[in-house]
Amino acid sequence: METTFDAIVVGGGPAGAATATHLARAGRSVLLLERATFPRNKPCGEFLSPPVRGLLEELGVYERVLRAGARDVPAARIHCADGGSFAGGFAASSARSAWARAGGLSVPRVVLDHLLFENARRSGADAREGVGVRGLIRERSGAVCGVETDRGAFRAPVVIGADGGRSRVARELGVVRPIPRLQKIALVAHYADVPLAENHPVEMHIAREGAVCGLGPGPGGTANVTIVVAESEAPRIAGAGPAAYYDALLPAFPVAAEWLRGSRRTGLATCGTFGHSTARPVADGALLAGDAATFIDPFTGEGVYFALRGAQMAAETLLPALRRGDTSERALAPYARARRRELTPKYAVCGLVQRVVHREPLMAWLAPRFARRPDLTERLLGVTGDMDSPYRLMSPAYLLSLLTA
Ligand SMILES: Cc1cc2nc3c(=O)[nH]c(=O)nc-3n(C[C@H](O)[C@H](O)[C@H](O)COP(=O)(O)OP(=O)(O)OC[C@H]3O[C@@H](n4cnc5c(N)ncnc54)[C@H](O)[C@@H]3O)c2cc1C
Repeated sequence: METTFDAIVVGGGPAGAATATHLARAGRSVLLLERATFPRNKPCGEFLSPPVRGLLEELGVYERVLRAGARDVPAARIHCADGGSFAGGFAASSARSAWARAGGLSVPRVVLDHLLFENARRSGADAREGVGVRGLIRERSGAVCGVETDRGAFRAPVVIGADGGRSRVARELGVVRPIPRLQKIALVAHYADVPLAENHPVEMHIAREGAVCGLGPGPGGTANVTIVVAESEAPRIAGAGPAAYYDALLPAFPVAAEWLRGSRRTGLATCGTFGHSTARPVADGALLAGDAATFIDPFTGEGVYFALRGAQMAAETLLPALRRGDTSERALAPYARARRRELTPKYAVCGLVQRVVHREPLMAWLAPRFARRPDLTERLLGVTGDMDSPYRLMSPAYLLSLLTA
């Protein structure tokens, strides 16, 4: 027998759990379906940009996240392939919020995602783990009206696809647009006993030949050390085995390797990171949130921000649409417009940053300028840290300051 809800959310990661929380709190009957069982890990650099603190607070989980194991990350440092480096703090952004001054956070995803999922349940969502969605159910008109799962079928006037970077919902809607240069492989390692000072920055290391490594100080002397390489490395990773491949590549990031000397690796996960956008994030009876809607290379570490902010934007459109009883593509279009207005310029800046970091001569030119002018670095961090408008980087005054620095 099929059960009917106001909304079905596919995927219980940050985007799905947050969307379900917003809808359930507004009194809507929400079914939240997650294939895995919590606590589950999600390969990630585990750095949260400063405004994520505010989004967690709004969801009612901020204090719980801090208590469960989080670490303040006040600054970021970029290490270039030629040995140069530059750094800046998050607190200097133009954003006036207390969150900006508090800086970024590092939280293990195994902790964060579990708390967010339980929070959705506590907010009234019917949150079910271990239920994989196999496909969409459609009306004769083509409008989505439910899902088939390995535990039966469920119906709702709207299905939210929050099922991550390889979203089945997005693929069934036929809207996925892969970004060829962002088909990559990530090797995500955790270390214990890493001797980093309390105020150690999150570090991005760029190696020759396009590999990058993020080192994020974690709670209790741990660190997340994520290396991202081109997809063409897949045969070498398979041939050597992920651990041997990782160990052989780590010395390409000498500063990170030095920090890790004498520490212990406690885990290593490998995953494909398949950059894509979508032709549109809404369809008749369906809406895409989080990575399902767009996923770009994780260099600037903003995916969780996009997931949680996107969930807020989704709820702002879904709640009036459900009230009016109209979940057509037209009724859901305000969400698409809001994303275009607010998130698309941010994706564009992230894309630009990723292109620049892989141009070694350009980085060799930029790094000393940023090192001489921490205010310019901080403006960059204000934007990539989700606090300032992307247009602050595009002003002629900023570009002139860089040229003359
Ligand atoms: C290597 C790497 C490093 C990253 N580093 C950072 C970082 O430092 N900071 C940051 O903010 N972001 C980072 N990101 C991005 C971040 O991980 C994602 O943007 C974020 O997880 C998106 O959340 P989501 O809820 O959309 O998707 P996910 O977190 O992927 O959650 C999707 C959920 O859907 C479930 N699911 C999938 N299919 C089905 C199905 N058919 N039925 C039911 N459930 C299903 C999955 O099990 C999963 O739990 C990184 C990403 C990668 C790959």
